[in-house]
Amino acid sequence: MGRVYNFSAGPSMLPLEVLKQAADEMTDYNGSGMSVLEMSHRSPVYDAIIKQTEADFRQLMNIPDNYKVLFLQGGASTQFAAVPLNLMKTGKADYVVSGQFSGKAFKEAKKYGDAKCIATSEDKTFSYIPEITPDMVREDADYVHICYNNTIFGTKFPEIPNVGDKVLVADMSSCITSEPIDVTRFGVIYAGAQKNMAPAGLTVVIIREDLLGSAREETPTMLDYKTMADNDSMYNTPPCYAIYMAGLVYKWALKNGGLTAMKERNEKKAAILYDFLDSSKLFKSTVEKKYRSIMNVCFVTGDAELDKKFCKEAAEAGFVNLKGHRSVGGMRASIYNAMPQEGVEKLVAFMKDFEKNN
Ligand SMILES: *Cc1c(COP(=O)(O)O)cnc(C)c1O
Repeated sequence: MGRVYNFSAGPSMLPLEVLKQAADEMTDYNGSGMSVLEMSHRSPVYDAIIKQTEADFRQLMNIPDNYKVLFLQGGASTQFAAVPLNLMKTGKADYVVSGQFSGKAFKEAKKYGDAKCIATSEDKTFSYIPEITPDMVREDADYVHICYNNTIFGTKFPEIPNVGDKVLVADMSSCITSEPIDVTRFGVIYAGAQKNMAPAGLTVVIIREDLLGSAREETPTMLDYKTMADNDSMYNTPPCYAIYMAGLVYKWALKNGGLTAMKERNEKKAAILYDFLDSSKLFKSTVEKKYRSIMNVCFVTGDAELDKKFCKEAAEAGFVNLKGHRSVGGMRASIYNAMPQEGVEKLVAFMKDFEKNN
């Protein structure tokens, strides 16, 4: 079988060009006589890789100088603990629970202090994003935590919520680099890289500098943002190869017009799919229009057996990993930056045929 259209939510598709370059450089990186997989993270050749990766990421995301970029391990899930350990000074933090991952983040924060859920969309199976206004936030809360794009339920905040002068923390695992974002509106942005940036193993944190250095005393050294910031993400061995791959992906995104172009491409792809879902008699979107993600598109036929049949036949036709998350069923097409428009168009053509025959 040749390359398939891979709609996996993560780890997910990477640009073919990037994979080919990595393959070309696999056994001898840039005349070093060795693979990036084999290099000391303290070597000058690797130092150049991590520095260039950070520089390209900063350019791509337009990250101001008063923010640090950290390349960490442990996945976004480790950040569910790192955030309260580093940022809970009064011991209070407010959480918006708009899906499964934000629920997990909230639950983890409760271990470390008084975490409060100030809004949730659980009443309608997380099919929308609850409205947030500054008066909902507790006056003495240290921060407000949101998940900007809900990977499992296919919803996204229609805009950055207004939390007054509070520090806003966002899990952007499944939407980072999908569109331009005003970093200055956030205190911390974090993301597991395996959705839209790189292979698994890398977690990226963007943190405003004044938020460093207030971790509680018992914070594990490895989870203290200041340790990592002071050591340029090299306190210990970083996820070297995943960082190198992220670097190639950032270069690819820059070469292809940066995040303005990514947003245009992503909105176009999403519109092709949603327009079909809204006109189809068989398939329908599970998300209210205003809150639809442009990265993760969830849909159902309304019949679990038919959903199953669809996923099976789609996979046979080369459209793989369309099964929805095990907790919600149905289908989900994750259409991150690396998914070409052609993949979405062909999927819709396949869905039209399936609809005719079923
Ligand atoms: C995938 C995902 C996570 C979990 O990421 P890990 O890197 O597997 O820990 C958390 N939040 C969001 C929004 C995700 O999409």
